[in-house]
Amino acid sequence: MKLQNFAENEWVPGIKDGRCLRSAIDGTTIATIDSTGINFQGMLNYARRVGGPNLRKYTFHERALMLKKLAQFLMKGKEEFYELSTQTGATRDDSYIDIDGGISTLFVFSSKGRREMPNDHIYVDGHPEILSRQGTFVGQHIYTPRHGVAVHINAFNFPCWGMLEKLAPCLLAGVPAIVKPASSTAYLTEIVVRRMIESKILPAGSIQLICGSVGDLFKYLTCQDFVAFTGSKTTAETLQQHPRVVSESVHFTAETDSLNSSILGPDSTPGTPEFDLFINEVKREMTSKAGQKCTAIRRIIAPSNIAADVIKALSGALAEIRVGHPANKNVDMGALASQSQRDEVSSRIEDLSKEADIVFGNEKKFEVTGADAQEGAFFMPTLLHCNNPLSASAVHSVEAFGPVSTILPYDSLEEAIELCRLGGGSLAGSIVTNDNNVAREIVLGCAAWHGRMLVINRHCANESTGHGSPLPHLVHGGPGRAGGGEELGGIRGALHYMQRTALQGSPESLATISNCWIRGGAEKDSGSHPFRKTFDQLEIGDTLRTSAREVTLADINHFAEFTGDNFYAHMDEKTAKANPFFDGRVAHGYLIVSFAAGLFVDPDFGPVLANYGLDNLRFAQPVNCGDLLKVRLTCKQKILREQSGYGEVRWDTEVTNQDDEIVASYDVLTMVATTEEWQNCRKLVSAD
Ligand code: NAP
Repeated sequence: MKLQNFAENEWVPGIKDGRCLRSAIDGTTIATIDSTGINFQGMLNYARRVGGPNLRKYTFHERALMLKKLAQFLMKGKEEFYELSTQTGATRDDSYIDIDGGISTLFVFSSKGRREMPNDHIYVDGHPEILSRQGTFVGQHIYTPRHGVAVHINAFNFPCWGMLEKLAPCLLAGVPAIVKPASSTAYLTEIVVRRMIESKILPAGSIQLICGSVGDLFKYLTCQDFVAFTGSKTTAETLQQHPRVVSESVHFTAETDSLNSSILGPDSTPGTPEFDLFINEVKREMTSKAGQKCTAIRRIIAPSNIAADVIKALSGALAEIRVGHPANKNVDMGALASQSQRDEVSSRIEDLSKEADIVFGNEKKFEVTGADAQEGAFFMPTLLHCNNPLSASAVHSVEAFGPVSTILPYDSLEEAIELCRLGGGSLAGSIVTNDNNVAREIVLGCAAWHGRMLVINRHCANESTGHGSPLPHLVHGGPGRAGGGEELGGIRGALHYMQRTALQGSPESLATISNCWIRGGAEKDSGSHPFRKTFDQLEIGDTLRTSAREVTLADINHFAEFTGDNFYAHMDEKTAKANPFFDGRVAHGYLIVSFAAGLFVDPDFGPVLANYGLDNLRFAQPVNCGDLLKVRLTCKQKILREQSGYGEVRWDTEVTNQDDEIVASYDVLTMVATTEEWQNCRKLVSAD
């Protein structure tokens, strides 16, 4: 099979025979790969001309729904991917991380996109900034999708997840992508892309694929484009310094090598649950995906007085690992991705062994279950021990991208922190301790060198996702040698593909542009009470101003008795006066909110279905007996929940007193029926 490139909406082979891609299990040829003759400039132009505009036509919610459909589609056909994944040396469990893990990233971004982004084309970032005394000139940060292309260059170890974790936020943002998988496992990426294209769920131009070299593509990048790179530090450095990347300020993210460490706390001695958790975690990290994970634990930082116990326990645990054919159910660890990867890992162990002793593994002959040890890229888990880690360098800088890790003993927490930092920047670190003060000290000393830190103890271990698992909700990336990049991270991930712009202007202009009402903007007289309007009928700016209501001492007493809230500031004049904030007894804040609801709510059966909360509630001034309260309620933002019959409506709410001073300010959050749904509700009532 010759892998094909998907360029300008067509599957095209490279014009040369190409390189052979071999099975990690038995070395047989699986496919050839070549991208010679592909018009890379044409691909970029196609993405900009067709893909970008096609994606930008949709709102965030519509694109989020596409991701969900795509995830459902891929999930249905995933067995085909699992079968091919075995050839990369991955066991079923390894493939689960890559395939199910990748697809679930699409689900997560779909759900977050619909919950946390507006059903709109503009994402409003934070609150408006009032820039003038009269409030006629304001500022508001917004995000819009960049009009370029994201070039995703991925590493060989996660041919499916590596692609999908980048595509999910990118497509949600509305930016088309050109995916370039690492050659050695590109056959799995190609089939997943093929199925995505066949599904016709994404609009034309959203995704293109390069199987092979990127040719002269970098020559045509512009300031609207992105390169999101995952791979080795060396390749990242080369690409980051490409003259075009530099001159056009192409947005460049790198996720590279990482000498991740796990620190065993001084309290976690043999016999404690934490010691066993640590051994298990290190074993898992060393052997899952045959150690070919960018987050794998490469440096095991343990108290020197129990280093011998750690060596013994880990060696025992690694001795139980059965290496062999990844499809064999009795096998715990499959093969490395290729023979060349096996040679690479061997030579990195040679580098490490100049400073550290091999205490387990690295044997040329070892038992391989269900496969030929010579034909496949099998490798024995290998543990090293470095006696003087503070003065060593290779153990902190050489990444053996396989089932290899080195024990580094420490004598004090300061030493443990220093060893951890010597990695020069890591993706993921972990601390195994049941002493939260130890955890805090290590976090204070090491967090600046890490993209992610996991604290494991007996209380969270059962539910912990483990040292090495990136989660779509949290950022993935790290400083220094980890590349300095950041990916995933929920909506933050999508924002990476967008431009933040500070808009300045009148509240009215900014409200129209962002579809979000800003204080100081025009208040529309909605004619009828705004709660009588359906989601479709409501307009941003529709405002209700209520009549006033007095707050009496009887109200305060009644509220206190009714709710049981007898806080002294509401009940006792003398002590309330002694409080620096009050002149005497004050009304409960929640009484103000409740009275406000009594003032603005329209009681009759109507399109407002539910109040689901308040945001940004602040009590700005005390309310005393005799104060007169009134409310301004303005429709601030509408977010339609596609295909649900309702949408979220956010109401900007201000409660003021007789002197027009704001006493409370907040957003009321409601669900409002669409016209169609409201008619259905009414029919149900009249049928009764
Ligand atoms: P690599 O050799 O640097 O290759 C990474 C990607 O870059 C591949 O797609 C490769 O394509 C491409 N590439 C290489 N030279 C290029 C060039 N001149 N122009 C454009 N693209 C080029 O790394 P790898 O061996 O695939 O991956 C292993 C490394 O990745 C390890 O060091 C691991 O730590 C790191 N990694 C990091 C993360 C992370 O999130 N930080 C995740 C996974 C892996 P070809 O295969 O076609 O050469």
